Amino acid sequence: MAYVAGKTADALRRELGVDTVVKLGSNESPIGPSERAVAAAGRAARTGHIYPGIELTDLAAAVGRHVGLGPDAVVIGNGSCDVLLAVAAELLGPGDEAVVPEPSFAMYRIGAEAAGARVVSVPHCDYAFDQDGILDAVTERTRLLFLTNPNNPTGLALSRTEIVTLLDALPPWVVVVLDEAYGEFVDPESRVDGVEFLREGCRVVVTRTFSKIYALAAFRVGYGLASPTLAGALRAAQPPFHVGSVALRAAQAALGDTDHIELSQRVNREGRAYLTGRLTALGFRVLPSQANHVLVVGLHDVQSLDAALNRQGVITRPTGPSFGLDGGLRITVGTREQNERVVAVLSDWLSGS
Ligand code: PMP
Repeated sequence: MAYVAGKTADALRRELGVDTVVKLGSNESPIGPSERAVAAAGRAARTGHIYPGIELTDLAAAVGRHVGLGPDAVVIGNGSCDVLLAVAAELLGPGDEAVVPEPSFAMYRIGAEAAGARVVSVPHCDYAFDQDGILDAVTERTRLLFLTNPNNPTGLALSRTEIVTLLDALPPWVVVVLDEAYGEFVDPESRVDGVEFLREGCRVVVTRTFSKIYALAAFRVGYGLASPTLAGALRAAQPPFHVGSVALRAAQAALGDTDHIELSQRVNREGRAYLTGRLTALGFRVLPSQANHVLVVGLHDVQSLDAALNRQGVITRPTGPSFGLDGGLRITVGTREQNERVVAVLSDWLSGS
C-alpha cells in the first residue's frame, strides 16, 4: 500500500538538471522547523543508541496541557496518518461502513478499506460539505464519518454550527473523526476547536499533526484526541517504540515555540491572500481557503497545466483520482518568492507563452 503524494522534488530536479525547484505540492511549511525543535532533535540524537523512554509520555502530557485534556485522552502517532489508520483499524471491520465526503484526504479510504469496511463516498456540493448528503449516507452499519476541518484539497472550513448540526443529527453508533491537520491555519474568528466536542462527551476523535504548522513533516509525529477508553485502546494496539525519541523531542519543543507558530500563521495568511487575490484577478476560480493551500477549480486541462508548471521547475498538485476531483490544482502557500513564481508561470500559461 504505497501512498505517493505527487511528483517528488528529487525526480523533477533530476529531470530538469537543476539544483532547486519550487515545491508547492505537499502542503509543507515554507519556513522550515523552529530552531528550538532542531536544537531539541540534535540533543536527542546524542543518545540515539538508546531506545525511546520517557519522551512519548512527555509529549502526550505536553499535548494534553496544550489542548486542555488529560494525557489519557492523547495518542501519539507516527504522523497523523498513523493515527487515522489506527482509528479505522480499531473501529471498523468487514460489514461496517465509513462515510467519506469527497474530495478529501485519501488516507480515510485507504484506512477504511484496509479494515475491510465499505467506503460510502459523499460528493461535495459545489466543493462544500453536503450536510444532507452526509446524513442520508448514514445507515445502521455506519461506524465512522470523516470530516476534515479545514478540508484538503478544497481548503474550506466547517463552521461550528455545521459541525454541531451534524453531531446532533447523527445516530449514537457513529464516531466522527475530525481531522484538524490544518486547523491552526484557520483565521481566529473562524476557528473551531474540535476538543470542545470531545469535552462535551460527543463521539469524536480529533486528529492533528506536527507536519504542517509545526513544519516537522520529515519527523513523522501526529496525535489523536479521544475518550480515554478509545485513546487507551489505540495506544494498546501500537507497536513498541513506534515514534523515535528525536522526533518526539522535536515535536515537544515545536509545541512550545509560539513565536515560530505565529510566524507560520502570518506567512501563511499573507501568502494565501496573495495567491487567492492574484489568481482570481487572472480569471481562475480559487476557493476561499482557510488552510495552507489554495485550490484552483474548473480547469479544463490540468495535466497540460501541471506539465507546464513542471517544465518551469514548479510542483503543485493536480487533484486527480486520489482526491476524486477532476479539474483542480492544489497549490501550497509558499514563501513570497515561491508564490510570485507560481503566479508568473500560471499567468504565462494563460497567455499561451
Ligand atoms: N490529514 C490531512 C487532511 C492531510 O492533508 C494530511 C497530510 N497531507 C494528513 C492528515 C497526514 O499528515 P501526517 O501524517 O504528516 O501527520
